[in-house]
Amino acid sequence: MNDFTSRCFVCQKKLDPAKASKNLALNLPVCKACKGTDEEKDKARELTDGLADGFVCGCI
Ligand SMILES: [Zn+2]
Repeated sequence: MNDFTSRCFVCQKKLDPAKASKNLALNLPVCKACKGTDEEKDKARELTDGLADGFVCGCI
């Protein structure tokens, strides 16, 4: 899962984790091109919704 921390979570571009900005809500790296964009917000919502769904459906 190291890849997850060295790629922009929006566009999957490789990043230097030491220099990359992070989305603080998700604690995932985001590149300069994606930071603050609607794409970032959409993707973040997608990921958090996915997590929430996982919790809701975990009982089945
Ligand atoms: Zn990006």
